[in-house]
Amino acid sequence: MLKLSKYLKPFQIPIYVVLVLVLLQSLSELYLPTLMSDIVDKGVVTGDTHYIWKIGGYMLLVALGGMICSIAASFFSSKAASGFGRLLRSKVFSHVGNFSLSEFDQLGTASLITRTTNDITQIQQVMIMMLRMMAAAPMMCIGGIIMAYSKDAKLTGVLAVAIPILIVAIVVIARKGIPLFKAMQVKLDKLNRVLRENLTGIRVIRSFNRVEHEKKRFNEANWDLTQTAIKVNKIMAAMMPIMMVVLNLTTVAIVWFGGHRISNGHMEVGDMMAFIQYAMQIMFSFIMLSMMFVMIPRASVSAVRINEVLETTADIKDPDSAALIKGEEGHVEFRDVTFSYPGAEMPAISNISFSMNPGEVTAIIGGTGSGKSTLINLIPRFYDVDSGQIVVGGTDVREMTQEQLRQKIGFVPQQAILFTGTIAENIRYGKQDATDDEVHHAAEIAQANEFISSMPDGFNATIAQGGTNVSGGQKQRLSIARALVRKPEIYIFDDSFSALDFKTDAKLRAALKAETGQSTVLIVAQRVSTIMDADRIIVLDDGKVAGIGTHKQLMETSPVYREIVMSQLSEEEIA
Ligand code: ADP
Ligand code: MG
Repeated sequence: MLKLSKYLKPFQIPIYVVLVLVLLQSLSELYLPTLMSDIVDKGVVTGDTHYIWKIGGYMLLVALGGMICSIAASFFSSKAASGFGRLLRSKVFSHVGNFSLSEFDQLGTASLITRTTNDITQIQQVMIMMLRMMAAAPMMCIGGIIMAYSKDAKLTGVLAVAIPILIVAIVVIARKGIPLFKAMQVKLDKLNRVLRENLTGIRVIRSFNRVEHEKKRFNEANWDLTQTAIKVNKIMAAMMPIMMVVLNLTTVAIVWFGGHRISNGHMEVGDMMAFIQYAMQIMFSFIMLSMMFVMIPRASVSAVRINEVLETTADIKDPDSAALIKGEEGHVEFRDVTFSYPGAEMPAISNISFSMNPGEVTAIIGGTGSGKSTLINLIPRFYDVDSGQIVVGGTDVREMTQEQLRQKIGFVPQQAILFTGTIAENIRYGKQDATDDEVHHAAEIAQANEFISSMPDGFNATIAQGGTNVSGGQKQRLSIARALVRKPEIYIFDDSFSALDFKTDAKLRAALKAETGQSTVLIVAQRVSTIMDADRIIVLDDGKVAGIGTHKQLMETSPVYREIVMSQLSEEEIA
C-alpha cells in the first residue's frame, strides 16, 4: 500500500482540503453538545426564552456549517479517489504495454485484467472511506475525551471502564472477520476463473456434453463464496448489537452516576446530557477505527497485486538511440541462436544459423511443437535470444528500437486476430494512411475480395468482437492483407495458409510471389505443397535444424524431410 502512495502526489491538494473539512466537521460536532448543555442549564432551567432562541439559532448555524463541510468533504474525497484510480489504471495500462511476451506469460492476461479493473476499484473505495475516517476518528476520540473531561472529570471514570470493554469486543470480532475477508478474495478469484473458462470454452463444453459438469463446478465455487460471505456478514452483523449494548450500558451508567452527582449539586443536567453525547462520539470513533483496520487488509491485498504488475519490468528494452542500419535492407541472419522460454528446462530452439536475402522465399517446416513459431517470434523481438544473435539489415535487433525493427516487418501470426471495426479498418491496421486502392489491392492479393464483396457492406462490413462473424480461412486472409498493405521489407507468415483450401492456397501463393518480389519472405507451413518451390527450406526437428536446402537437395539429404514429404504427397507428385 505504501508503495502506491507515491502516486498520490497529484492529489495532495484535494486530500488536504478533505482533511481540513473533516476536521472542521468534527469540531462542529464536538461543539454542539456544549451548546446544548448551555441551553438546558442557562435557558431552560431559568426560563430565559430569549437565550434559548439565541443559542438555538447558533446551534443551527454550527450544524449547518458541519453539514456543508461534510458534503464538501464527500465531493473532494470522491474526486481525489477517482482521480487516483484513473491515474493507477493508466499507469498499469501503459506499463503493461511495455511488457514483452514473457511478462504476459508470467502474469496471465486474465489476471492483468482483474488487477487493472477490480483491484484498483477496491483501492479507490477504501481511499474514500479512509479519507473521511482517518482524520475524523482520532479527532473525535481525543476531542471527545477532552470535552467530556471538561464537563465532569469524575464521570470520565465510567469511560475508563467502557472503552476497554469496547476494544476487547472489537478485537475479538476483527480476529474472526479479517481472515474470512482474505479468504473471500481468493474465492472470488476462483469464481472468476471458472466463469471465464465457461464463457470462453462454451463451444467445447456444449459439444462434449459437459454442461452439467461445468454447472456443478460453477455452483460449487459460487456456494463456497456465498458461505464465506454469509459467515463474514454474520460476524459483522453481530458487531452492531454488541456495540449498541456496550454503548447503551455506558449511557445507563452515566445517567446513574451523573444522577447522583446532580442531586449532590456537583453537576448540572445539561452537562450530563452533553457528557452522554461525548461518550457516544468517543465510542463511535473506536468503531470507525476498527472499520479501518478491517478495510486496510482488504485493500492491501489489492495494492500488492497492483504493485506486482508495476514492479515487473520488461525484459526487452529499447536502446538509448535508434541504430543506423549498416547492411542490406531486408537481409536477416540467425547466428547460432538458442532460446528457451522462462522457466522451461529445455531450450525451445537451439543453435539455429541461417540467413535470408531480399527476393528470396525461405520456408520452415517441422512437426507441431518443433519450435517454428518460437523461431519466428524472435525476429520482431517478441522475446530476446538467450545466446547468439539475430541480425536484421546488418544490425543486431537489440541495437534497434522496437518500433524501428517492427516497421520493417509484415507479420501474420499463427492465430489470426482481428479487431472490432470494419474490414477496411482491419486491413488499414497495417498502414494507417493506406488509400482505398491500396486496401483493395492488398485484399485482392490475399484472395479476400471474393468473400468481402459478397458481404452486404463490402469493405465497410463490420467484424464482430474477436472476429467471430468470419470463418477461420477468411480471418487468415484478412490478416494476410493487413500485412501486405504495409509493403514491408520482410514478410513473416506463421502457418497462415493452414485454414485455406488447396485451390485458394495455390492462387494466393501465385499472387504473393508477384507482390512480394524484392522483399524477404519467411513462410512457416505444414503442407509440403505450400513450400516446395521455396528458395530455401529449413527443416526443424525438436528445436534443432535437421536440414537446410531446396526441396530437391533435402529429398536426398534429409530423412526427416523425406518422411514429412512421404506422409503428404503421392509418388507422382514428388517426382
Ligand atoms: P510450433 O510452432 O513449431 O508448433 P512452438 O514454437 O509454438 O511450436 O513451440 C515450441 C515449444 O515451445 C513447444 O514445446 C511448446 O511447448 C513451447 N512453448 C511455446 N510457447 C510457449 C510459451 N509461451 N511458454 C512456454 N513454452 C512455450
Ligand atoms: Mg506454431
